[in-house]
Amino acid sequence: MLLSIIVPIYNEELNIALLYQRLKTILVSMPLSYEFIFVNDGSKDQSLNLIKDISKKDFTVKYINFSRNFGHQIAVSAGIDTCKGDAVVIIDADLQDPPELIKDMYEKYKLGFEVVYAKRKKREGESFLKTFTAKLFYRLLKTITNVEIPVDTGDFRLMDKKIVDVLKQMPEKSKFLRGQISWIGFNQTFVEYNRDERHAGTTGYTYKKMFRFALDGITSFSNFPLKLATWVGFIVSLLSFILIIWAVYARYFKTETYVDGWASIMVSVLFIGGIQLLCVGIIGEYIIRIIDNVRNRPLYVIKETNMA
Ligand code: UDP
Ligand code: MG
Repeated sequence: MLLSIIVPIYNEELNIALLYQRLKTILVSMPLSYEFIFVNDGSKDQSLNLIKDISKKDFTVKYINFSRNFGHQIAVSAGIDTCKGDAVVIIDADLQDPPELIKDMYEKYKLGFEVVYAKRKKREGESFLKTFTAKLFYRLLKTITNVEIPVDTGDFRLMDKKIVDVLKQMPEKSKFLRGQISWIGFNQTFVEYNRDERHAGTTGYTYKKMFRFALDGITSFSNFPLKLATWVGFIVSLLSFILIIWAVYARYFKTETYVDGWASIMVSVLFIGGIQLLCVGIIGEYIIRIIDNVRNRPLYVIKETNMA
């Protein structure tokens, strides 16, 4: 049995040595062989050199070096495309995902589960805004999608080759792996853990990247926003129609009380204008993703690798 460990890396020079050491300790104690796949996602620090040094001493260490920063989900996808394992673990490089949990995951895997994901009980050392928006997002996603995507779960998980093979065939360019994996099905279960603080360095997920990721998740797994746009449009049109009739009536039959209403016109114009822009924006978000898929550019560009 070969286990592939996929680690996306973006500016993690202070974490790589300890991560490798902790992973190695846990893996040698397990009854299997393993390979590491470090995907360097355009790091600007010494991460790449550190990975290369490790790979020279340890033949189980493979690396992929991207030509630039493509993003976390794409880095993981590159690992998924190239791994050879009978099962795969996806783990962050910053030690927020404790490597020791892999053992628990493996035990559940042995019981016959194709996916064992790690569910966060508590999150340490992350800003209130981040944990709050994350919690809100997962719950919103749960209500508007048909796929059962587990809440408070990242990509830290162990999964069987069967899942990996399906993932490789899923053509979408906006990757939302945790959703795709839920969509694939099979037997899935979880282990719980307390998410540690980042060991060192700073998060590579800016709010801009997080927002984009959230939109990828929603647009990939729900058409609800599009339907919402239609419904809002419909309701607002109805209200406007009633208002128009009233305005015409008032103009001709209530002349003595009728005041030329600047305020009411402004309010309705701004309101309808705002709703229209919102709906056009929602449609735009979906169109952007259609274009990405139609262009069909490669998902990532590899600059160098030590993989066959
Ligand atoms: N990461 C990446 N590309 C990016 C941003 C992050 O490969 O553009 C990696 C990062 O090195 C880490 C994992 O993805 O291994 C999770 O990122 P991070 O810890 O910065 O996110 P957070 O835990 O704060 O959500
Ligand atoms: Mg992190």
